[in-house]
Amino acid sequence: MTPDYEVAIVGAGFGGMGAAIAFQRLGITSLVLLEREDDLGGTWHVNHYPGLAVDIPSMTYSYSFEPNPYWSRLFAPGEELKRYAEHVATKYDLRKHMRFNTAVEGACWDEAGQCWRITVAGGAQVTARYLVTATGFLSQPHTPEIPGIDTFAGKVIHTAAWDDAYEMSGRRVAIIGTGATAVQLIPKLARAAAELTVYQRTPIWVVPKLDSAIPQGMRALFARLPIAQRAARAICTSVLELMMVSAVLHFRQAKVLNAGAARLARRHLRHQVPDPALRRKLTPDYDFGCKRPTFSNSYYRAFTRPNVHLETTAIERIGPAEIVTSDGLSTPIDTLVLATGFNIWDINFPAFPILGRGGRNLGQWWRDTRFQAYEGVAVPEFPNYLTLASPYSYSGLSYFTTIESQMRHIRRLFTELRRRDARTFEVTQDANDAFLDRVTGKLGDSVFYLGNCAGSRSYYFNQHGEAAILRPTSTINAFREASRFSLHDYAYT
Ligand code: NAP
Repeated sequence: MTPDYEVAIVGAGFGGMGAAIAFQRLGITSLVLLEREDDLGGTWHVNHYPGLAVDIPSMTYSYSFEPNPYWSRLFAPGEELKRYAEHVATKYDLRKHMRFNTAVEGACWDEAGQCWRITVAGGAQVTARYLVTATGFLSQPHTPEIPGIDTFAGKVIHTAAWDDAYEMSGRRVAIIGTGATAVQLIPKLARAAAELTVYQRTPIWVVPKLDSAIPQGMRALFARLPIAQRAARAICTSVLELMMVSAVLHFRQAKVLNAGAARLARRHLRHQVPDPALRRKLTPDYDFGCKRPTFSNSYYRAFTRPNVHLETTAIERIGPAEIVTSDGLSTPIDTLVLATGFNIWDINFPAFPILGRGGRNLGQWWRDTRFQAYEGVAVPEFPNYLTLASPYSYSGLSYFTTIESQMRHIRRLFTELRRRDARTFEVTQDANDAFLDRVTGKLGDSVFYLGNCAGSRSYYFNQHGEAAILRPTSTINAFREASRFSLHDYAYT
């Protein structure tokens, strides 16, 4: 049969757009990007809570082939990322391929037709020879199951569904969660709300953010002389790479760096919070690196404001206008902010049911066996399928290194398909197993397994206790392998 499209990409964020650009460069123009939201940009379209910004320098957190000389700050605010996504979509003429408000509900390999049948909300079907999922890692918001939460009569806002029109001033606000999102949001809420109670279950390490505005003159220089920006990017990328490879992946050899970062965070805390009891509550008891590091110059200080209260006693229940902790303390509130993050392991890997050869259900198979994906992109028994947000795929600290190495993988794989005049690819079981053995072996040196991560409740760990998100190699290795993986790792028909 002739499918509707050669390639269907699910997700119109930076991952999906990167994949679309890779296919366009191969001359494949029969493309569709299916996006559940009403516009492009993924995370940077969905998230618009106050304080949102990148936590990786913008020169690195962008496509290397599409530098943006106009970032206003070293760490650009969220709306600039959204504008950058729009710019990329326009420049690479991607919008014409995008279908918004199109939530994919399932995909199934059609053996007879040798294509994917993709069902979208409402029941319509799209067929494509190749399926690529670029649904992101942090795209399924987690709402905690706290007794009584449904009875709360005030305003509830998850950070991933921010209500820009809602006025915080004069409100008695509670925020649950102290992850990277809360670290950005709490200083803003502290300034706006009448009272802010922060419910912290696990404290987070916070180091100073070396942020600054990028002067107009430097932006003009970057625009005139792209090599200058490339040099700045190379410096930022090298520093991030060093942090990732040493402190995270080679904890066995470099734990002194983790200890140094924790000392820096403690000093930062001492500098901003004079009260030792408050400092104790804000100090983590797990190693730096178990969770994604956070950066802020205003988070700790926010807790010294008279209208901000840190609550570390567990929440017992939520009533129509209060939160009650296990010590019986009731705090009256009218606004509940959920900075409770995302569900990765139960519902995001993958983001919708995907049935491969013989009806194998990808999510169920991952959960029943182990989370795995050859080179972070391919899975045996799932022909013509590439999963971009997958186990062991996240390479380096900037998502763009992941995206661009995957773009290279696509290029090499599809060039080979074309050379063989083949239509179907499938990674071999042997290649998949060898990759899994290699990455799990390498993780043995990482902070995740050698560090003290027990109390961290880090989302890097799955339900089997495996830290199966990060690819435990340098980004140089990831790029090299994406360009040189053995072509015999796939079977072609
Ligand atoms: P997160 O790191 O998963 O944090 C969720 C928070 O909610 C944690 O403090 C968690 O406590 C708490 N929580 C969840 N359920 C709870 C419950 N039932 N009771 C009490 N507390 C509960 O999520 P996030 O802050 O949204 O950040 C997720 C990731 O997004 C970050 O790691 C980062 O990669 C990314 N991010 C990036 C940026 C950026 O600048 N680029 C900004 C924000 C986020 P426990 O720790 O105890 O589970």
